[in-house]
Amino acid sequence: MSALVSTPHPPARSQPHFNPDCRACPRLAEFLTEVRAAHPDYHAAPVPPFGDAQARLLIVGLAPGLHGANRTGRPFTGDYAGILLYASLFRHGLSSCAESVSADDALVLKDCRITNAVKCLPPANKPLPAEMRTCNGYLSAELAALPPGAVVLALGQIAHRAVLLGCGLKQSALRFAHGAEYALPGGQRLIDSYHCSRYNTQTRRLTEAMFDQVMARCKAWLTDPVSAAEGAERAASAEAVEPRRAE
Ligand code: SF4
Repeated sequence: MSALVSTPHPPARSQPHFNPDCRACPRLAEFLTEVRAAHPDYHAAPVPPFGDAQARLLIVGLAPGLHGANRTGRPFTGDYAGILLYASLFRHGLSSCAESVSADDALVLKDCRITNAVKCLPPANKPLPAEMRTCNGYLSAELAALPPGAVVLALGQIAHRAVLLGCGLKQSALRFAHGAEYALPGGQRLIDSYHCSRYNTQTRRLTEAMFDQVMARCKAWLTDPVSAAEGAERAASAEAVEPRRAE
């Protein structure tokens, strides 16, 4: 699946990718103060992106989980949400280890970087639209730094929307669907997946095989874009017969 889009990235290259002291979202800053009081040993602050700054695969999640990234200070680390993600990255040669245990373990991502649409823990795992927009400057800067040919893997509908916003695209421009693939204005690819949350994996909305298939597509676009494009054309033909399901 592809889409013709003409709106360029916003001029975000000069913006920082991350600010560890950011408190631009009052509700989230207040919530983190409460979480720090309850869990003094937790990171409980904005969670930085993890991985190679020059990576061609950027994985975008939703936001830190209370006892996962918010505790350890590394995206998708320390709770259930990272199990499928890191195992799949390892199977596809994109990380040195199948598990991410803590921010100071030996894990190294290869040509891959993981970030979140919202860098601070939101109450009930639900950031407000205004918070997503406020934090989008950081994501926009990360997206603008990606080279042509890079791949953006959006985990879930909110991450998909954040990527569109970060690329200066209308929310209606590209529809979220598991396995959907789109061309982005800067020459990158956007690939969608259901979020690898405990809920989605335990209900089998997202299986290991489904996630591996998406990860394989990311790898294919990085290693053999000509074949990947042919695969996308075949998928588009098949979709004309049986459309994908949205989240
Ligand atoms: S969510 Fe983003 S913009 Fe909001 S306070 Fe945290 S780092 Fe800053």
